[in-house]
Amino acid sequence: MLDTEKLRKDFPILSRTVRGKPLVYLDNAATSQKPKAVIDALSNYYLNQNANIHRGIHTLSEEATQAFEEVRKKVAKFVHAPSAQSVIFTRNTTESINLVAYAWGRKNIQAGDEILLTGMEHHANLVPWQILAQEKGAVLKFVSVTEAGTLNLEDLDKNLSKKTKLISVTHVSNALGTINPIRRFAQAARSVGAVLFVDAAQSVPHIPVDMRVLGCDFLAFSSHKMLGPTGIGVLIAHEDLLDKMPPFLAGGDMIREVWLEKATWNDVPYKFEAGTPDIGGVIAFGAAIDYLQNLGMDNVRAHEQELVAYALAELSKIQGLKIYGPLDAAQRSGVVSFNLGAIHPHDLGTVLDEDGIAVRAGHHCCQPLMRGFGISGTTRASFNIYNTKEEVDKLVKSLERAKMLFDACAPGAFSTGSSSPKETSQKSSRK
Ligand code: PLP
Repeated sequence: MLDTEKLRKDFPILSRTVRGKPLVYLDNAATSQKPKAVIDALSNYYLNQNANIHRGIHTLSEEATQAFEEVRKKVAKFVHAPSAQSVIFTRNTTESINLVAYAWGRKNIQAGDEILLTGMEHHANLVPWQILAQEKGAVLKFVSVTEAGTLNLEDLDKNLSKKTKLISVTHVSNALGTINPIRRFAQAARSVGAVLFVDAAQSVPHIPVDMRVLGCDFLAFSSHKMLGPTGIGVLIAHEDLLDKMPPFLAGGDMIREVWLEKATWNDVPYKFEAGTPDIGGVIAFGAAIDYLQNLGMDNVRAHEQELVAYALAELSKIQGLKIYGPLDAAQRSGVVSFNLGAIHPHDLGTVLDEDGIAVRAGHHCCQPLMRGFGISGTTRASFNIYNTKEEVDKLVKSLERAKMLFDACAPGAFSTGSSSPKETSQKSSRK
């Protein structure tokens, strides 16, 4: 098990206060906090190693290149990727998905082909496929979401056909926490010769992920959600798949030879890494992976599962509070989305903030999912390794205070039986 009290000391930001109260950071699904080891790795790069990579023959450049390429190996090992060369560094999960939609999609999707998605995708795993489908005259199909916040797998079989060329699915829902049965999707994809893309933005940071077990063709995730810096994303695919894909962005580093009228491409993964990357960010991402490896992803998962089970039990005691997603902690990650009576999530988030509690409120970049539930959004608490049961207690106490406050303003409006906030205007809330 994790020694939470000890590891909290590794995260400098956790000792700050917000509005005079100790910070309770429950917005980890948006981005995680960073341990000192990651911050130090970033500043050490700029203090001692700063140089551009791959092109230099001087010592600093060689050192930076080696440190950067070491992280590629670490990433590959962390998720059991086919090889280090199958790991491409991008800016974030969003860019990884766009890379595939552009480079793989424009070559392999034709008019009449079908792309199978689900009703719980983050906009990042929806809009790039919409654009591709519109451009190519392809058809989008969807696996629907049940009332319980799980995927309706009957839809998977029903919508699968020889026309299905790509299935793209989130491993863990950022809005509900639901852990999806990826192997089932891999079998379905294989049965019709389709390619499987897995959006692992919410799984790789929180549960052990083994690409070989998942059986997917593409995997994408972001450093900033797994204790690393912002600005670094990962895309992984078998080298033979990547070899056949045309480039995404063009420029320096991704070429082998350039003439005035034409160019040839570098090997994978460099073919997909045009221009100077965020070198310091990648190196610091390596420190984040080391940190998680040292804790052990099984321990990370066990801690967050215990916390989410506790949160589900305690939140369920609040009258009028509706939880979305599976109620079994084994079926979900450390994400709990809820509504309290008819209180708008933004108002609830504001009251929680007064108590130093950071949560996310809104549609979580899942407008179709929210629409399916007939709501404008939810309040979402999402946990990480440094969160504690005491923090869950503070959340519950603050929600009780919010309930009293709103009941005092508009008696009866927010108590049990009143409806959840209805879909009206989709106020913006990202991630
Ligand atoms: N997919 C899922 C499931 C997410 O939760 C997110 C971000 O919240 C993304 C994709 C996009 O990640 P990023 O903003 O790092 O590109």
